[in-house]
Amino acid sequence: MKGHISMKKTTDCNKLPKKYNEFYHAIRQFIDDSRIFCGPFETLQYGVDASFYRLLPKIVVKAWTPEEVSKILKVATGMQVPVTFRTAGTSLSGQALSDSVLIYLAGAWRGYKIADDASSISLEPGVIGATANYYLAPFGKKIGPDPASINACMIGGIAANNASGMCCGTAENSYKTVESMKLIFVDGAQLDTADPTSRERFKESHKDLIRDISGIRDELRADTALAKRISQKFKIKNTTGYGINSFIDYDDPIDIIMHLMIGSEGTLAFISEITYRTVVEHPHKASALMIFENLQLACRATVKLKQGPVSAVELMDRPSLRSVEDKPGMPSFLKELGKDAAAILVETRAASKALVLQQIEKINSLISDIPTVFPITFMDQAADYNKLWNIRKGLFPSVGGARKIGTTVVIEDVVFPLDRLAEGAMELQSMMNKHGYPEGIIFGHALEGNLHFVFCPDLNDQDSVKRYQALVDEVCEMVTKKYDGSLKGEHGTGRNMAPFVEMEWGKQAYSYMKRLKKAFDPDNLLNPGVIINDNPHVYIENLKPMPATHELVDKCIECGFCEPICPSKNITTTPRQRIVAQREISRLGSTHENDELMKRLMGDYSYFGEQTCATDGLCATVCPVSINTGDLTKQIRSKQRTDIGTSVAGWCAEHYGTVLALVRTGLRIANTAHTLLGTALMESIAKGLRKLSGNRIPLWNKWMPKGITLPKFKNITKGLGRKVVYFPSCIVRTMGPAKSDPDQRKSYEALLSILDKAGYDVIFPRNMERLCCGMPFESKGYFEQADTLSKELEAELRSCSNNGEFPIICETSPCLYTMKKKFDPRLKLYQPAEFILDRLMDSLEFKKKDETIALHVTCSSVKMGDADKLRILAEKCAAKVVIPHGIACCGFAGDRGFSFPELNESALAGLKAALLPDTRAGFSNSRTCEIGLSLHSGRPYQSIVYLVDKCTGRK
Ligand SMILES: Cc1cc2nc3c(=O)[nH]c(=O)nc-3n(C[C@H](O)[C@H](O)[C@H](O)COP(=O)(O)OP(=O)(O)OC[C@H]3O[C@@H](n4cnc5c(N)ncnc54)[C@H](O)[C@@H]3O)c2cc1C
Ligand code: SF4
Ligand code: SF4
Repeated sequence: MKGHISMKKTTDCNKLPKKYNEFYHAIRQFIDDSRIFCGPFETLQYGVDASFYRLLPKIVVKAWTPEEVSKILKVATGMQVPVTFRTAGTSLSGQALSDSVLIYLAGAWRGYKIADDASSISLEPGVIGATANYYLAPFGKKIGPDPASINACMIGGIAANNASGMCCGTAENSYKTVESMKLIFVDGAQLDTADPTSRERFKESHKDLIRDISGIRDELRADTALAKRISQKFKIKNTTGYGINSFIDYDDPIDIIMHLMIGSEGTLAFISEITYRTVVEHPHKASALMIFENLQLACRATVKLKQGPVSAVELMDRPSLRSVEDKPGMPSFLKELGKDAAAILVETRAASKALVLQQIEKINSLISDIPTVFPITFMDQAADYNKLWNIRKGLFPSVGGARKIGTTVVIEDVVFPLDRLAEGAMELQSMMNKHGYPEGIIFGHALEGNLHFVFCPDLNDQDSVKRYQALVDEVCEMVTKKYDGSLKGEHGTGRNMAPFVEMEWGKQAYSYMKRLKKAFDPDNLLNPGVIINDNPHVYIENLKPMPATHELVDKCIECGFCEPICPSKNITTTPRQRIVAQREISRLGSTHENDELMKRLMGDYSYFGEQTCATDGLCATVCPVSINTGDLTKQIRSKQRTDIGTSVAGWCAEHYGTVLALVRTGLRIANTAHTLLGTALMESIAKGLRKLSGNRIPLWNKWMPKGITLPKFKNITKGLGRKVVYFPSCIVRTMGPAKSDPDQRKSYEALLSILDKAGYDVIFPRNMERLCCGMPFESKGYFEQADTLSKELEAELRSCSNNGEFPIICETSPCLYTMKKKFDPRLKLYQPAEFILDRLMDSLEFKKKDETIALHVTCSSVKMGDADKLRILAEKCAAKVVIPHGIACCGFAGDRGFSFPELNESALAGLKAALLPDTRAGFSNSRTCEIGLSLHSGRPYQSIVYLVDKCTGRK
């Protein structure tokens, strides 16, 4: 498969128990060994999901095609080996786990096709939900299901969990919007429900299954009381057990099979493709936070709003609001609310602004007789309504982030009939208090009666497990017996609610569920133990240990939201997997349960966890509890320093000017050799030398920069009263353009040319040859050396900017980010894009070029919030600017890309394909990132200052 880099493995699979060893050898016949994993490090890292359960698979296999899955399933059936499918592993109920074989789809299965009129989209299971919406956005469409985890979770899991969120309700979920599916059954047979021939063939080849499904359909329909109850129960959200409404809503057994797949949690068959009817994404919206004196009033308003033009109504109880009231950006009135107050966050959307206004009027009139604590104000500007939604989005992280180390954050997911929502919510509150969880909060999708309650039990301790068990038992009794509600509204049954499916549905309905499972999977090989499970204690077994490991990551809830953005995800590990491994190492370190295993994990972590972490910290930008796993890596590197390493780092920091001079000379020699030998010969010699050195010599490529001759940077005076300090980073003072770059100037020359056109006096720091922000040392864990250098630079910048009076530019974004993080906030630090947009627009004349260019927004630019500025500036210069979707960190990581080129290669695997064929060149704002970007795109990437300089004149 294109775009895939083989992952290194920690072990071979020959030490498996007999049955699994045979299975391994059988699937090796058609799956490359590099995609089969059995080592303890790998089974631990891939085994994890977001639930509080842990099972360790014996084998993890990355299957890439329907044919491979079909063959694996045939082998599994032949050898009676259970399998579990896995996409993003963000499931919360323990349904994406296996102690047998895990078929891992993430990183592959990313195909999609949009119908000509965009009325539907066909998606493979490995497409991230938000990516599907990105594809549909130009058509004003989106997929129906909208789980809060949509930026990480994938189509396979969305469909198999019947995931839903704030807006889709029961009207636009997967069940309601699925049009067709391609399926693979446990015997390896394939069915395309959109293809009449395939349907007929399947009916012929699977007569038993068709007969069983038709039989259940007829029996169930004949039981009119049950049929009525089923229809009633699916009017509210429900993911407990199987979607047996399929038997009532559809006649044809193939249609029933297809709809049963929704919410089947990988227990019936494999979904290799799903076609969804798309839904309209209205461009105009407005939101209001309505505060009521108590929950009853908030719920009364919700019931009325159900009839109104609302797309979302999110309920928050008083403890929820209290949990976020001290967070930055929260409205001050939250603190002043009464002890019983409750809020609903209401959103309305429409095709035009005028329609939104009409809808707001309607909403106001619907609830005009219900008193609110403050007058209702709808906000229609994104900056304003996003602040309101941040209250709602901050709830789960605030509980997760505030919990005691070692505890687990549990998010439950029950549904009450809407007219009894307030009553149900109050009972939940009192039950959490009764069982000792005063920190518990309740919020949820009130329109659907769906409430999440979040609390933090300590599942490492038997007494606490009993307390958790008592709460769950009581809640299940209450929700099912008193309210006939659902025990799971969105998150799926998993292992967590499997023992309670019968309690919710009753004996008869449950027996149909068991029968249908048997009809699809007679030997119980597909995700056994999930949804149907005879063990009444399965919900409190195999609980995941949550030992403390390092304060930087102890708050991790293992949600997996950080996985898609991590540049090392396809070759080694993700942030979540790094944390899971560290936790296990710590656990084994304190229990001494298996010292050999601990050493083994520590050994494997060295390459898989530490060395291949780019320390870019992008993981923190998507983590609900703001964990930067890169900081953990730096700490680990710091601890691993040897005396020799520290002495070398100390010497380098002290003689930094000499070090840079040596690098310049090395680059010049390499460039001369390149000129003499040509690219092909130079590349093969470089590869050979690297191999001979055991990968210690950095890998040369044809986009390597030339070493420059350091000029004497002399202050420039124009005398127009505009002054700027320019600090060319040490990288820019060392690395010139590559031999094949179109603009052969040094990047500081391009920037100085722009400043010249704008009439700026330029002040250069003194002692420039040795100045550095310290970042190269910090990323390797040499914190003292980094501090020494950064302090020296800060002092010099303070002095030459007259204590922050004059702005300061640095063109290398990772360096600027380091400086912004560490330096006196009075220093006005800019990257060129921001400086040009903020200060130079009145003096530069832009001439847009009719060409397509690529823009790479570096991680540090994302973290500084500068992504839009780079885009706006690029769009002033070129007719079409492509920012490839899904390319976040380039993985070059300062100088790490020289030593671990596979990290860069993996991070940029999709880059070439994402660029339009007429993309002439790329632009960015970090010289080292540009090396890797050029290499993997086949186009020259240079600093954005070249582009601006070429496209501007004096005004
Ligand atoms: C913080 C947080 C918030 C969340 N918010 C929501 C929410 O708002 N709404 C919601 O519904 N859920 C939510 N979830 C739960 C979860 O994210 C969703 O259910 C999501 O859709 C799971 O997708 P996944 O790709 O992670 O699937 P996985 O966890 O990998 O798998 C889910 C199930 O699908 C099966 N499966 C996967 N691929 C296939 C396939 N190709 N064929 C057959 N079976 C397959 C697996 O075996 C498993 O049983 C949340 C989770 C977290 C951690
Ligand atoms: S680091 Fe953050 S995003 Fe990643 S798994 Fe942990 S909590 Fe989730
Ligand atoms: S710092 Fe970067 S490479 Fe390291 S775990 Fe976070 S996202 Fe992955």
